[in-house]
Amino acid sequence: MSSTFGNAKALLDETAAYFSRGYPEKVLKRAFAKLKIPQKVAKGKITITLDSGKKKSFEAFRVQHNNARGPFKGGTRFHPKVSEDEMKALALLMSLKCAAIDIPYGGAKGGVVVDPKTLTEPELERLTRAYMRFITPFIGPKIDIPGPDVNTNETIMDWMADEYSSYIGKTTPAIVTGKSLARGGSKGRHSATAQGAIYLFHLIAKKIGIKKGATIAIQGFGNAGYFMAKFLDDAGYKIIAVSDSHGAAYVPDGADPDATMACKEQKGTVAGCYCKGSVCDIRFGRKISQKKLLALSVDVLIPAALENAINKTNAASVRAKVVFELANGPTTPEADAILEKRGIIVIPDILTNAGGVTVSYFEWYQNIHREKWGLSKVNKKLKEKMTKTFVDIQKIVKDKGTSYRKATYLLAVKRVVDAMIDKGRV
Ligand code: NAD
Repeated sequence: MSSTFGNAKALLDETAAYFSRGYPEKVLKRAFAKLKIPQKVAKGKITITLDSGKKKSFEAFRVQHNNARGPFKGGTRFHPKVSEDEMKALALLMSLKCAAIDIPYGGAKGGVVVDPKTLTEPELERLTRAYMRFITPFIGPKIDIPGPDVNTNETIMDWMADEYSSYIGKTTPAIVTGKSLARGGSKGRHSATAQGAIYLFHLIAKKIGIKKGATIAIQGFGNAGYFMAKFLDDAGYKIIAVSDSHGAAYVPDGADPDATMACKEQKGTVAGCYCKGSVCDIRFGRKISQKKLLALSVDVLIPAALENAINKTNAASVRAKVVFELANGPTTPEADAILEKRGIIVIPDILTNAGGVTVSYFEWYQNIHREKWGLSKVNKKLKEKMTKTFVDIQKIVKDKGTSYRKATYLLAVKRVVDAMIDKGRV
């Protein structure tokens, strides 16, 4: 049966076929076999008292994939579909992402099976603190550093840092990233994923000839999707469709991201938000299905929601010229093969969204060294990282005549395998 972790492992197998490192084949085989198994899977039940006085338990996970290159690093997801399989896949992607962007971290992921929208704020805080107590024995500022992911934000990260600090009796901001500025967060972290992605987008656009005014559809209008829409709109591209978990809006002349976000906050969904300038009106657009958004004839499709959005059932209907994967794992390997065969360029997740973890690393670095950087320093360093990584990957694309995904995996896996071998772990 296909699974999200199965998909991630299949991508590793594809990479293995391209691998020529000069190590004996049996060493490489052992290294790849190890990469397919996380170093640790912590799972259990956490229990909180609801406002009603009743007790409720939730399944919780922290998966530590590989720390050959540095402490484990990965986000925290609060979602009803969180599963061990998903956590393992996302932890593996984190090991590869940190290696691709060349920051000294390994990979991890954590989460709770919960729909946070059904909890009151005090219940959410109790859940977060209970989750932090659950993972505290396995983490530390130089061991494993959680951060935010889907449905978690800076308030939740502040609660996590506070709970850990109270537990060990010492203020330890470096235990999580994505905190508020007041609690040791970094300037630029909030929009870092999209900021890194827009630097990359400009490089890709130049390379493959995407012109200003090009049309863009974005699946998922949360943190990553909204900021990406805003940066693309600012740069002169046209956002003609956006979707969220409730529906999608089509605005052929180009939607205004800020007005769309304001409308979404008011209505609870982007479906029905057809916003130009500061005005939202039915004249400007129409409601479409989430499925239709993925099949629009656009220059660039940006999946910015969850895994497996583009799969073997819908890959043949994708009509974008470029798929720019802002979400983690949005394309299954079967779909990836279909897109490649159809000449659609896919810019892979572990490259596209690496800006988030890069600025998380900057935040951690500032906490450890008691520094506070200005936004221009953060963005300058982020741009340098994205540019250097793109140049390295573009060289592999050219030299090996391969896709961006395979080139990125090759670079990332090679760095992790090198570290495993150097440390005698294979
Ligand atoms: P988020 O919770 O802020 O936003 C997710 C959005 O996706 C929401 O608007 C939600 O309604 C929408 N969505 C869910 N299911 C959908 C569906 N079937 N169709 C259309 N929309 C749907 O989360 P986020 O932080 O923006 O993360 C989005 C993706 O980006 C995830 O894959 C995450 O792992 C990845 N990512 C995020 C960051 C970050 O810094 N936020 C960093 C790296 C990767």
